Amino acid sequence: MTAAAMRIPLLVPSLPDRDALWPYLGRIDQARHYSNFGPLVKELESRLTQRFEQHTALDMHVVTVSSATLGIELALTTLDLPPGSPVLVPALTFVATLTAVIRAGYTPVVADIDLDSWLLTPAIVEQAVSETGAKAAVVVATFGQAHDSKAWGDFQQRTGVRIVIDAAAAFGSQWVDTPDLPVVFSMHATKSLAAGEGGFVVCGNRHTTDLVMEMSNFGINLHPEKSLPVGYLSSAGTNAKLSEYHAAVALASLDGWDAATAIRHALYLRYREQLDQACQASSCNHALTWQHGTPASPMTLSVRLGSKQRRDRLEQHCAERGIATRRWYQPLLHQHAAKVGPIISMTTPTANTVAADLIGLPFFAMMSDAQIAQVAHALQHAQ
Ligand SMILES: *Cc1c(COP(=O)(O)O)cnc(C)c1O
Repeated sequence: MTAAAMRIPLLVPSLPDRDALWPYLGRIDQARHYSNFGPLVKELESRLTQRFEQHTALDMHVVTVSSATLGIELALTTLDLPPGSPVLVPALTFVATLTAVIRAGYTPVVADIDLDSWLLTPAIVEQAVSETGAKAAVVVATFGQAHDSKAWGDFQQRTGVRIVIDAAAAFGSQWVDTPDLPVVFSMHATKSLAAGEGGFVVCGNRHTTDLVMEMSNFGINLHPEKSLPVGYLSSAGTNAKLSEYHAAVALASLDGWDAATAIRHALYLRYREQLDQACQASSCNHALTWQHGTPASPMTLSVRLGSKQRRDRLEQHCAERGIATRRWYQPLLHQHAAKVGPIISMTTPTANTVAADLIGLPFFAMMSDAQIAQVAHALQHAQ
């Protein structure tokens, strides 16, 4: 069955409709400012700053970018590590985490994950640093699961290992409670605060967000106080600016974000309970294994089935019933190495174990109870 013919799709983005966009588009018409840090971009950054500052006593700074991938690349570039420096990434994440490290000029070191959280932990990173000499780590808030930013900030201070958090899919879960650690969010259509494409970097250190902003604008110096004249190139940056049109969508998304999140969060909990019940009702002598914790604003639903055979059977059952599934983040990062290398691969027994029985099931705000029941039914029969 082709994806288009699926009765229950994997994911259905829901972005603001034209009525919600209308007032913002009117403002663009009036200002005739379409990109280059326009008024809507500035308003978005300031509203996001307020949100992050509600969760910490620290000052926060937000700079928008055209994607999280470029945000991670630029955040890594601000670290100014020697070219080729080893930088840790977890084995279970979207490929953008890896490509951003390579494009920032560093060498990715693919490390294992924690069995409960499916994330990198300070203990894993410390061990991996001692084995590989890594200078930095991109820790990923995989499937929207937040990291303890303060713990990572303390880790960075204690060890000198620089940390960037890839929180692309974790807006609403991931807060920033540490003064000097860049955290990057995505506004891709499939993420919790959706603008179609876009992203932003949050950091307590203004120097970092200023540098990201400068590099997002080709590397042109924008600061009169620097020794270099304004308008001169201060580094080989890129164009990663967010347009006013994308900011308009993001602002309209932000207007409806709390309501949309409440719906998705409640749906996630209800769905998870139904699947647990389906598993208990069938004679399976195991429980489903969930990632530790619940994301505040979930966009996907992944679960471990206890064995590869059971996962493969459920995939097969779903395919036959027109229920879309996805093995998110597979193949694991180091399995891409042949084509994009050089990559340093550590052994990743836990990531291999998690990946072997992990399945992504349909999840979207408009999912009906009947659709959830169909997925639960497929689960029961795949035991
Ligand atoms: C979506 C995602 C990205 C990429 O975000 P874009 O804004 O599409 O560039 C990077 N990392 C993770 C973990 C993601 O989920």
